[in-house]
Amino acid sequence: MLSLALAAFMAGQGQALQMSYPVEPGLTGVTVQWSGHLVPFTRSGENWLATVGVDLDSKPGDHAVTVTFAYEDGRMRVVREPVVVSAGQYPTTELQVEERYVELSPEDQARADREAAETSAIYDTFTPQRYWTEAFAVPVKGAKDGRNFGHRRVFNGQPRAPHSGADLRATTGTPIYAANRGRVVLAKDLFFSGNAVYIDHGQGIFTTYLHLSKIDVAVGDMVERGQQLGLAGATGRVTGPHLHWGVRLLDARVDPFSLIRIGAPTTGP
Ligand SMILES: [Zn+2]
Repeated sequence: MLSLALAAFMAGQGQALQMSYPVEPGLTGVTVQWSGHLVPFTRSGENWLATVGVDLDSKPGDHAVTVTFAYEDGRMRVVREPVVVSAGQYPTTELQVEERYVELSPEDQARADREAAETSAIYDTFTPQRYWTEAFAVPVKGAKDGRNFGHRRVFNGQPRAPHSGADLRATTGTPIYAANRGRVVLAKDLFFSGNAVYIDHGQGIFTTYLHLSKIDVAVGDMVERGQQLGLAGATGRVTGPHLHWGVRLLDARVDPFSLIRIGAPTTGP
C-alpha cells in the first residue's frame, strides 16, 4: 500500500473511488480538488482516505486531479494525480410505463422542471461536516444486490436519461432504512420519483430512496444509520413496487453498491 501514491487511481464509469495515502510524520491534512469541490481526507488507521465518485457519463480515459498535502511546519505539497476511467458496460432496457410519464402534460412538465431544479440545488450544496462514522449499509434488510444501475433506458419507445440508481427488490410496505447517518434534505412526493427521501451525509455524499408508499421522516431530521425512513411502494414512474436507491458523490452518479464495496472511512478525524 505504501507505493499507492505513485500509481494511478482507477475507476469505472459510475463507480465510487476511495483515494488513499499512507500516514507520514508531520502530515496534518490531505485534500483533493474534485468536481470543483475541496474534499478533505479522513485519517483512518495508517491511511488518509477520501471517498469520491466517477460519474456514469464521465469520459473514459486519463484524467487528473490536484491533491494537496499540508504539514505541521506549514509546508504544502501539491501533486497532480492521474485517475484512469474505464468504460462501464451498461445495456439498454425497454420499459412500459403509464403514458403520462412519457408524454408529459404542460402542467406535469412544469412540475418536473421545477423539481429537477430543486433536486439539483440540493446536490449543489456541500456540507463540509461528515455526519457518519460507520460504513454505508444496504437500505433493505437482507438485500445483497440491486438491478439496472447505469442501464440506458427507453420508456414506451422513447429514450430517456440513464438509470442512476440501483433497484432493490421490495414489496409494498417493506421497511426502508437509512444507509448511514445524515440529515434529511428532501421528503415529499415528486413527479418521476414518487414519494422520495434524500439524505445529505456531508462531504458531498447523498443517498436517495424513491417510490415509497409512506414517508416517516421530515426535512431537517438527523437520521441514524439503520433508522426507518418509510415503506417501499410503487409511486411515480415505475413498472412495479421496488426501492430505487441512489448515491451521489459530489456531482457523480454512482452505483450504490460500489460505495458499499469500497467501504467509507469509518473513524473520525
Ligand atoms: Zn430505479
